[in-house]
Amino acid sequence: MFNLILFGPPGSGKGTQSDRLVEKYGLIHLSTGNLLRSEIAEKTPLGIEAKNFMDKGQLVPDEVVIGMIDNSLEQHREAKGFLFDGFPRTANQAKALDKLLHLKKTAIHSVLALDVSEDELVKRLLERGKTSGRSDDTSEDVIRKRFAVYQQETTAVADHYKALHRFKTVPGEGSVEDISNALSAQIDKVLERQREEEEAFD
Ligand code: ADP
Repeated sequence: MFNLILFGPPGSGKGTQSDRLVEKYGLIHLSTGNLLRSEIAEKTPLGIEAKNFMDKGQLVPDEVVIGMIDNSLEQHREAKGFLFDGFPRTANQAKALDKLLHLKKTAIHSVLALDVSEDELVKRLLERGKTSGRSDDTSEDVIRKRFAVYQQETTAVADHYKALHRFKTVPGEGSVEDISNALSAQIDKVLERQREEEEAFD
């Protein structure tokens, strides 16, 4: 199996790049943001609760998103691997993910972080807000709040994976194509190492 986390602040292009990477590597895309938005669209109790947090730029409680990820992993038992997008966002979520994957006799193999300046991020999100229908993309205050939450919570997530030597930063500004190529180059390196290890084991 190959499990990847695409990491980076709101607006860094995780969604765009995820679409390309899941196609190229045959992974299942798990975006907690997308899962939450479909709960909201279906007006489920979970969606109604989550919307209150999301509209303010706050994180949805850990147990809610961890439960969603657990269900999704169960639904795709035969997957070749997963691409996690927007998850884990807190140290607790990272620990829970490690446990869930460990139960399935697998782990996170790579964490790739997209690096984009804050000015560029605000510009992209306000632009996306004009057409995405996402209420959290239309107010600069909510956008700034999401960055603040990202800084506060996600540094611990990065540290968690840096300690495991699985963390790499990739430039997130430039053409979509160039960024995909940079991400793919990193993934190919990890896959190659995985293959070598498997061969040595045989
Ligand atoms: P963005 O990265 O642009 O903020 P997402 O779609 O990843 O977009 O997330 C939108 C909102 O959904 C977040 O601001 C947060 O409220 C909620 N959310 C998404 N993923 C998580 C998560 N792993 N933990 C807690 N809240 C989350």
